[in-house]
Amino acid sequence: MKAMQLSKPGPIETEPLKPVDLDVPEPGPAEVKVKVSVCGLCHTDLHTVEGDLNLPVLPIVPGHEVVGKIDKLGDGVALERLGQRVGVPWLYSTCGECEFCLGGKENLCPNARFTGYHVNGGYAEYVIVPQDSAYPLPDGISDAQAAPLMCGGVIGYRALRLSGARGGQILGLYGFGNSAHVTIQVARYLGIRVFVFSRTPANRALAEKLGAEWTGIADESPPSQIHAGIIFAPAGPLVPASLKHLRPGGAIALAGITMTDIPAFPYELIYGERTLRSVANSTHEDVRQLLDYASKIPIKTKITEFELREANHVLRMMKESQIQGGAVLIP
Ligand SMILES: [Zn+2]
Ligand SMILES: [Zn+2]
Repeated sequence: MKAMQLSKPGPIETEPLKPVDLDVPEPGPAEVKVKVSVCGLCHTDLHTVEGDLNLPVLPIVPGHEVVGKIDKLGDGVALERLGQRVGVPWLYSTCGECEFCLGGKENLCPNARFTGYHVNGGYAEYVIVPQDSAYPLPDGISDAQAAPLMCGGVIGYRALRLSGARGGQILGLYGFGNSAHVTIQVARYLGIRVFVFSRTPANRALAEKLGAEWTGIADESPPSQIHAGIIFAPAGPLVPASLKHLRPGGAIALAGITMTDIPAFPYELIYGERTLRSVANSTHEDVRQLLDYASKIPIKTKITEFELREANHVLRMMKESQIQGGAVLIP
């Protein structure tokens, strides 16, 4: 099968992903084989390819926003799953036995494995997935529309839950990329008022189209203070900036996987029982709930489609912020 494989990480400008022809993989017990129809690209892929993350397995096929159809079942998988349209997220498998797995926080499992990181992902014609990590997709959402929900979308959704924002309250979103433009649609559906802070005029315009009540930049003072916030941009200085906007008792969720250092700030910014919390991966429940919202709302994402062999080029465009919304590869 065709795949884009990473053997040696390097700057994306040097095109580290190489087109290869791999054996078609076979599903083991409790696994399914998925014929990939689209795979979304995410900033974590860029960090993987450029070697910013410690890579446990090389060579590796990246890609963890996978959408396709189950075309072969491993032993022990119910026959009715054959032919099912599914999405595969970043969280590939967990141990099922640790305190986090047993407590419904499997996103924190120390033995978690990730798609396109510990095991080959969706920059390929086929992937093998544990049956529990192949989520049936609701009708009414296309393959390309579903892809960015599987990582950026679900991280944003978890951040929204962790921020504690409720209907009628004001939520601040800092940065407005792929993840945020899914989150705002869920927030608006839940009756949450949204302020968006972004340096990019085109992103502020998109945010207004999607229902943002006010848009501006992080150094500005919004018309009123926010009850909760989510920081999507991986910039530490946004932490004190957002705390300045936050009401007492509110929380700021940090939705970036990596973030630059948070600068020192005066204690009074966090006094008043304000909370800062990070967001790590997502749970099975997060994925199921988001997919449910995706068909109810319905969530519409802005997607640009590319061919599989263009993976280096697309990641480079992402690095240079030339893509608005999400991007997918089509094998
Ligand atoms: Zn991702
Ligand atoms: Zn575990």
